[in-house]
Amino acid sequence: YRTVRLILGDQLNSQHSWFNSTDETVLYVIAELKQETTYVKHHIQKLCAFFSAMENFAQELTHKGHQVLHLTLDETEHFSSIIELLASITAGANADVLEYQQPDEYRLLTQLRKLLPQALGETQINETSSEHFLIPLEKIRTYVKPQQHNRMESFYRKMRKRFDILMDGESPEGGQWNYDSQNREKIKTKDLAHIPQPMMFGTAADAYFQRIKAHNIPYFGEYDAYLLWPVTRTQSLQLLDYFCEYCLPNFGRFQDAMIGDHPFQWSLYHSRLSFSLNTKQIHPMEVITAAIQAYRSAPTVITLPQVEGFVRQILGWREYIRCVYWINMPEYPNTNELSAHNKLPEYFWDGSTKMACMKQAIDQSLKYAYAHHIQRLMVTGNFCLLTGISPEEVNAWYLGIYIDAIEWVEMPNTQGMSLFADGGYVATKPYSASGNYINKMSDYCKHCFYDIKQKTSENSCPFNSLYWNFMHKHQTRLANNPRNIMIYRNWNKLGAETQQATLARAQWCIDNLSSL
Ligand code: FAD
Ligand code: SF4
Repeated sequence: YRTVRLILGDQLNSQHSWFNSTDETVLYVIAELKQETTYVKHHIQKLCAFFSAMENFAQELTHKGHQVLHLTLDETEHFSSIIELLASITAGANADVLEYQQPDEYRLLTQLRKLLPQALGETQINETSSEHFLIPLEKIRTYVKPQQHNRMESFYRKMRKRFDILMDGESPEGGQWNYDSQNREKIKTKDLAHIPQPMMFGTAADAYFQRIKAHNIPYFGEYDAYLLWPVTRTQSLQLLDYFCEYCLPNFGRFQDAMIGDHPFQWSLYHSRLSFSLNTKQIHPMEVITAAIQAYRSAPTVITLPQVEGFVRQILGWREYIRCVYWINMPEYPNTNELSAHNKLPEYFWDGSTKMACMKQAIDQSLKYAYAHHIQRLMVTGNFCLLTGISPEEVNAWYLGIYIDAIEWVEMPNTQGMSLFADGGYVATKPYSASGNYINKMSDYCKHCFYDIKQKTSENSCPFNSLYWNFMHKHQTRLANNPRNIMIYRNWNKLGAETQQATLARAQWCIDNLSSL
C-alpha cells in the first residue's frame, strides 16, 4: 500500500470524495479502540451502535471495491493509543502517506496533529476535511467570535441566505424568519391517538456486547439484544423518509411537548436522526433538502411553520453549536460562571427519584439512550442548573448517556445552553424554569408525588423553590436583563415570610438532593 487512510467511528460518510474511485494502493482503517470507549462511561447501546455502524461501513466500502482493514477491540487491545496503532499499520503496510479527516473533537484533532508526526517519522501526513458540515473548520472564525455571545438568530439568517434555503429572493419565504408563535403546543388528550409509532430497526447487538464485556469496557444503561438505531446509510435514509411522512407534519407544533404514560411518549414527533447525522451516515443538506421537498409536495399537510422549525434545528442550531465549540476550545470546559460545585445525585444513573418529570426523562434515557431536546434542557438540564451541579459531572453524564453524544455538540449544549457555565456564549440568560413550565408543556405533574401548586411545603414541587432560590442567589447578575424585570417584581411581591420559607425549602432540597 502507498497510502493509509484513517476513518474514525463518527466519520462514516460514504459520500466523501475519498470514495469517488477505488485505488488498490489505498488502505482504509476502521478500528474499535479502547481510548474511544473509555474517555467517559458510555451507554451500552451507544457503544454497540457505534461498533455496528463501523462494521457495516467497512463492509459497504469492501463491497464497493475498496481495501479495508476493520479491527475489533480483540485486535487493537495491545495498542495504548490510536497513534501507536497507526504507526504500526503504516509501517506494516510500508505506506509513505497517512491521511485522516479532521476529527470533530478537539481532543482527537490535537492528538493527531501533535503526536502523529513524531510517531510516523518520514511518513507524509495529510489532513483533509470531513466534508460533512456546512461551514468548513477554517471558516468558523468568520461566523462567530470567541468568549462572547453570538446570536443564533443572526447566524441562522445568514445561513438561510448563504445557502438559499426557504428564501424568496432576499426575504424569508412566507415573510417571517421564525414561526415559533404558531408552534410549541402542549399535547392534549385528543392528540394522543395520532402520535406516530417510532421507526426502529432491530440489528443484532450481541457480538458487540460480548466483546465490550470481555474487554472490561465500563458501560451503563439498559442493554437490548437488538439495536433500534439506524446503523447503515440505508437505514438512516429510511428513517429520514419516515420522519418526513409521519413526524414532520407536526414537528414544530409539538416540538416542546412532553407526555408520560404513552408507548411513544419518548419519541413523539422528533426525527431521532441525530445518531445518523453525527456519525455522518447522512449529510445535513440531504436532511434539509428532503424535508423541504416533502413540504413542497404536500404543503397542506406539512405547513411552512413545521418545515421552518425543523430546518432551523439543522441549518441553525447544529452548525451554530459546532462553531461555538471550536471557537471556545480548549478553555470551554473550564468555564464555571455560576460557581456550581454540587455532585450529581445517584438517580441520574438509575432513575430512582420521586420527581415524575425527572424519572420519565432519566428512565427513558437509560432505556433508549435518547431524550428529546426539551427533556434534556428543561427537565434534567434545568434541574442541574437550579441545584448547582458541577458542569464537569453534568457533561460526563450527557456525554455518556445519549446515542448522539459527541463532545462538539454535547458540550456547548450542556456547558452553555443548559448550565450557563459559560456566562452567556450561547444563551442571553439561563434557561431556568419553575415547575410551572414543566406543567404547562407536559402531563407529568398530574401523577407526581410532589404538588406542583406548592412551593414551601414538605411535598411541594422541588423545581418551584429551587427556581426562586436560583433567581434570588444570582440576582445581581440577572436582574439587569430586561426579560427578568417582571420575574423579580413577582419575587418581591411574595413578601418576606414567603420568600424565607421558599428559600428554606430550596435549601432543604439542595441539602437532601439524593432523596428527592
Ligand atoms: P430533532 O428534535 O428531530 O431535531 C432535528 C435535529 O436538529 C437533531 O437531530 C440535531 O441534529 C439538530 N439539533 C436540534 N437541536 C440542536 C441543538 N441544540 N444542538 C445541536 N443540534 C441540534 N445533540 C446532539 O446531537 N448530541 C448531544 O450530545 C447533545 N447533547 C445535548 C445536551 C443538552 C443538555 C441539550 C439541552 C441538548 C443536547 N443536544 C445534543 C441537542 C438536542 O437535544 C439533540 O440534538 C436532539 O434531541 C436529538 O434528537 P432528534 O434527532 O430527535 O432531534
Ligand atoms: Fe416535576 Fe414538580 Fe411536576 Fe413533579 S410536580 S412532575 S417534580 S415539575
